[in-house]
Amino acid sequence: PDTILEVDDVEVRFAAPGGGPLGLQRREVRAVNGVSLTVRRGETVGIVGESGSGKSTLGRAILGLDRVAQGHVVFDGIKVSDGRRDALRTLRSRAAMVFQDPANSLNPRLTVGETLAEVLRVHHKTKRGGEAARVAELLRLVGLDPALASRRPAALSGGQCQRVGIARAFAVEPSLVIADECVAALDVSIQGQIINLFLDLKDEIGLTLIFIAHDLAIVRRLCDRVAVMYLGRIVEEGPTEAIFRAPRHPYTAALIAAIPEIDPDLALPEAPMGGEPPSPLALPPGCAFHPRCAFAEDRCREGPPPSLRRADDHGWACILEPGTLAAPARNVSPLP
Ligand code: SF4
Ligand code: MG
Repeated sequence: PDTILEVDDVEVRFAAPGGGPLGLQRREVRAVNGVSLTVRRGETVGIVGESGSGKSTLGRAILGLDRVAQGHVVFDGIKVSDGRRDALRTLRSRAAMVFQDPANSLNPRLTVGETLAEVLRVHHKTKRGGEAARVAELLRLVGLDPALASRRPAALSGGQCQRVGIARAFAVEPSLVIADECVAALDVSIQGQIINLFLDLKDEIGLTLIFIAHDLAIVRRLCDRVAVMYLGRIVEEGPTEAIFRAPRHPYTAALIAAIPEIDPDLALPEAPMGGEPPSPLALPPGCAFHPRCAFAEDRCREGPPPSLRRADDHGWACILEPGTLAAPARNVSPLP
């Protein structure tokens, strides 16, 4: 009952163009490659990593928007990954996604009120005629004036559109929300407002949130736990402060070191990360991070990728021992 979502060894594959001498051989990219993740009720879990790491695909696969080729997803005790329609219907009436691009994720021809009322109708969330009151309530919940219900998206700012996107997600009264880069396109002050809104909703309605982002400063502020993805795999996962104070995977350490306004008290290795991630079509053997890793040894280049080891509620897929990457914990001041 404490667990709301169980992702077990999930793979999502996409067909890639070309391959073979005649370009005829079908090739597959494993956008998500053996990911396991457990989310507890009321928890906020951040999923971070560079673009192309598979974070959005993982979020979409959890909600049945991308097909799970292997492994399974169990939401609230229901197996939802085998595409059964009744399971998907239940899932979509209890879980919702907030997308990155606020303007384009809304139907331009519908007013805000019509967009929200449609969701209420489809999911039978109000009695006929009761929609207007619920729409006003939803708009107030996300800090918008209910008078905006009569406007179309073109008449709204980006921040207002994003709030409408969040209100739409909340229209189904979800027990789980997956937000995919939902503040990335907004300016900093609006970002702060949206983050505060999530923090309030967490307190008020016990929201369970999966927050997909590449901005680690925001993730640190919002999330209880963090999962770090690299080339389709989770390479590190654990409580937020443990991840930020003492990362155990060099990729995580490099991401944290790249945060511009990083806390000067955080002890981090001088391990800048070289280059771009390799193509998922030609994954390096061994640890896929080895071509960019300052700590790589021969054994990292050979054999299967290191599996996720766990200690102290903290998992990492690397041969290094805990403590290798960070000096003993100092007093880290909380972020403002
Ligand atoms: Fe670097 Fe080796 Fe750890 Fe991979 S397993 S992150 S190459 S030290
Ligand atoms: Mg993405």
